[in-house]
Amino acid sequence: MQELIREARRLRADFPLLSQRHPSGHTLVYLDNAASAQKPKVVIDTFGRIFSTCYANIHRGIHWMSQDTTRLYEEARVTVAEFIGAASEAEIVFVRGATEGINLIAQGLRRILFQPGDEVVVTQAEHHANIVPWHLVAQEVPIRLRPVPLTPEGGLDLNQLRSALSAKTRLIAITAMSNVLGTEMPVAEVARLARQQGIPILVDACQAVVHHPIDVQKWDIDFLVFSGHKLYGPTGIGVVYMRAPWGEKLPPYQGGGDMIRQVTWEASVFAPPPAKFEAGTPPIVEAIALAEAIRYLGRRVGWDFIQTYEAYLTEYAEACLHSVEGLQLYGTARPKGAIWSFNIADIHAHDIGTLLDSAGIAVRVGHHCAQPLMEALGVPATVRASLAFYNLPEEIDRLVHTLQRASAFFAPAY
Ligand code: PLP
Repeated sequence: MQELIREARRLRADFPLLSQRHPSGHTLVYLDNAASAQKPKVVIDTFGRIFSTCYANIHRGIHWMSQDTTRLYEEARVTVAEFIGAASEAEIVFVRGATEGINLIAQGLRRILFQPGDEVVVTQAEHHANIVPWHLVAQEVPIRLRPVPLTPEGGLDLNQLRSALSAKTRLIAITAMSNVLGTEMPVAEVARLARQQGIPILVDACQAVVHHPIDVQKWDIDFLVFSGHKLYGPTGIGVVYMRAPWGEKLPPYQGGGDMIRQVTWEASVFAPPPAKFEAGTPPIVEAIALAEAIRYLGRRVGWDFIQTYEAYLTEYAEACLHSVEGLQLYGTARPKGAIWSFNIADIHAHDIGTLLDSAGIAVRVGHHCAQPLMEALGVPATVRASLAFYNLPEEIDRLVHTLQRASAFFAPAY
C-alpha cells in the first residue's frame, strides 16, 4: 500500500493546481472531482503549445498549419475511439460535453424514432442531463420517462428494470455510475436485456469513464456520452459514441459549415458521420487536449494503478466516514466508485460545505443535478466527496476530522 501512496504522491506533482493554497492559508484538499477534475500539466501545456506554434481552423485550409491542426484533431478522434473500444473513429462525434451529447441524440431520435406514448426507461439515479433532454422531446412528441426505482442500498435491480420494459419502450438511457451515490450500474446486463428485446441503449458514462476502462463493443451498446473535463481534460469538449449505422440514420443536430457535402438555395446534402454532427468550427484544441489527457492516463497513470489505488481509498474513506457521529451515508450498493454522499444528523449540507471550505476542503453540496433522486432519498441536499487517483489518505483524514468537528459543533445533543 505504501508504494501505491508514494505513486499517488508522484502523480500529484503533475497537477500544478493541487499545490495551491486555500485563501485562508490551508493546504488545499480537492474532493470535488465528480464535478470536474484538475488538469495535468501536459493537458494545460497543450493549449500554449498549439496556440503559440501551429494553430489554424481545420478541414478547409490548404496551408500547412490548417493541415497539421486537422491531423491532430482527427488523431484525437482515433485516440478517443481506441480509448472506449469503438469499432471505428467514424462512430465518435465531438461535442461540447455530455449534456450536449444527450441533447444531440434525443433531438435526433425525436425525428426518426419516437411516437406519441413511447417510453424512455431510465434509472432513478439519473443526472438532469439525462432527464431534461427527454422532457424537451416530450414537448414535441408526447413521450414519457419511466424511472426504475433503486434498491434501498442504491443499486439497480434487474428484475425491476425488466418489469419497466414494455411494448412502449423505445429506448433505455442509463447512467453507468451515479454521480450522487457512486453506484456502478450493471450496464452489460442491461444491454443484454435491451438487445434481447430489440431496444436501443444509451449510456451516460460521465462518471464511469474516469474510474475504469470502458469497451462499448463489449457492453454492446448503441450510444455513449462523456465529458472531457471530468476525465482530467479541458472543459468545452465531450464525446458521443454512436454505433454504426446510427450515424447514418440520425439527422444532424445543427446546420452550418463543415457538415455538408453540397449546399444550394433549395437544400443541403449532408456530409457522412461524424462530420454531419459537427457543424461550425469545433472545439479544436480542446479535442486535442482531451486526447492528451487520455494518453496521460494510459501511459503515465495506468488503469491498474487507478483501480487498485481508488479501491484502497474507497475502503479507507468509508471506514473513516463511519467514525463520524450522526453521519448517514447514501448508497452502499457495490460495486461503487469513489463518490460518497452523506448528511450529518439534521445539519444542513450547506453548513457542512461552508465549514469544510473554511478548512481548505472542497466538496460539493446540494442536489447534484439529481433532484428526482434527492426526492427518492427524502432529502433536499447532500454533501458529496469524490476522489481521484491523486488524492491521499491524509486528505481523507482531514475531511473526517473536520466532519467530526462539525458533528460535535452543530449537533451536540447526541
Ligand atoms: N451525467 C453525469 C452522470 C454527470 O455527473 C454529469 C455532470 O456532473 C453530466 C451528465 C453532465 O456533464 P456536463 O455538465 O459536463 O455536460
